[in-house]
Amino acid sequence: MIFIQERTLDEIKEKINNGEANVFTIQEFKKAISDGEELSFDDVDVVTTGTCGIMSGTAAILHIGITGPGEFQKAKNVFLNGVPAFPGPCPNEQLGSVDVIVYGTEHSVKDHGYGGGFLLKDLLNGEKVDVEVESIEGKKFETQITIDDVPRGQIIGVRMTFKNYTAFVNPTGDKVNSIFNAIPMEGVLNQLSFSGCGEYNPLQNDPNKDIIGEGTKILFNGSKGVVLGPGTRSSDVKPNLMLTADLLDMEADYIGGFKTGAGPEIYDTVAIPIPVLNEEVFNKLLLLDPDVKLPVADIHGRHLPLTEINYENVWKDTDERPVFIKENFNLEENKVVQESCPTNAINDNGTINLDNCFGCGLCTVLTTNNTYEMKLGVVDLEIENKKHSIPVTCRQSDRQRAKKITTKLKQLILNKEFEL
Ligand code: SF4
Repeated sequence: MIFIQERTLDEIKEKINNGEANVFTIQEFKKAISDGEELSFDDVDVVTTGTCGIMSGTAAILHIGITGPGEFQKAKNVFLNGVPAFPGPCPNEQLGSVDVIVYGTEHSVKDHGYGGGFLLKDLLNGEKVDVEVESIEGKKFETQITIDDVPRGQIIGVRMTFKNYTAFVNPTGDKVNSIFNAIPMEGVLNQLSFSGCGEYNPLQNDPNKDIIGEGTKILFNGSKGVVLGPGTRSSDVKPNLMLTADLLDMEADYIGGFKTGAGPEIYDTVAIPIPVLNEEVFNKLLLLDPDVKLPVADIHGRHLPLTEINYENVWKDTDERPVFIKENFNLEENKVVQESCPTNAINDNGTINLDNCFGCGLCTVLTTNNTYEMKLGVVDLEIENKKHSIPVTCRQSDRQRAKKITTKLKQLILNKEFEL
């Protein structure tokens, strides 16, 4: 008979309350395993997993005051910094206020480089947001708000924290506009973009969703939230999650816009604790980047894998952020790089605003005079019996932010401010 060691959630909670729990961030845990440390079930009570990346299924629901009561019957069109926001479902008839739903993927009608992700970051940073409203009677109103004027806001992510991602290459010479690369991808097999935090990803570490499911408490962009259940298009083979949390508690650093070849998208950051209830849960945490497969597909037809690599191929021995080489900076030459930065992190003098940087690597690819340097890696792969070495040119996931949020979650658990 095989004896499986177990512990209950209540036992883990008691250890946390007594200050005796062994809580690891996923990066601490994986490093210990990679370094050959002999960790066993007895040594680990909780592991905080995490991910950060483009998550197109993000929608924010906000209530906004526009005028005094009685000035219009009902809003028909609403724009926030030019980003269309969808009024409703509550009509708020004659109240002078409006409920709106803002999609993270919606693009501004005034600025093709601005969208819902940038808007939500600006709001959370306390910046003023222009509000334009057209009522059903045809009246127009303009006002400005800050986050302090939003009495209630909630984000629902309908398709988040995917377990499986795909990397993309362009096997032909044409330019392809896609959300899967920061700029239009040109061939031939000379660029590779990818998403996913590999061994840190919550669902990679709980692939059968034995632990993570409806009601699991999470940190969603820094705000305490919950898993609502499977996300849209979730399947046993390719699971993802539907999540929610209070927008007003979120931190601007964890959320933002990301310009792609097909317009602005949104990124989010999520941490999910895994209480180690038995040895099976522990054993699933042992997987490392080389075990996490990453199919490589043609960016023209994203569903057809050409070959397969793994997350060690794209993350090992790389840098998380670029460095600015001041002596190589040239104002004119740098304009294209500055305008192309997906998160608008490059200042006019060429320096990088590291609070906004996502570590995508594009600046190091576009710079013509080595103004930015960063190790992004080169992937050796085989397509149709031919070997290729393709440089990684765009990352759409950010391990630095993922590690930051797993560290925050660990601290909250140890401080007894986050109950499992
Ligand atoms: S790595 Fe470069 S291009 Fe990418 S977000 Fe940072 S500064 Fe911008």
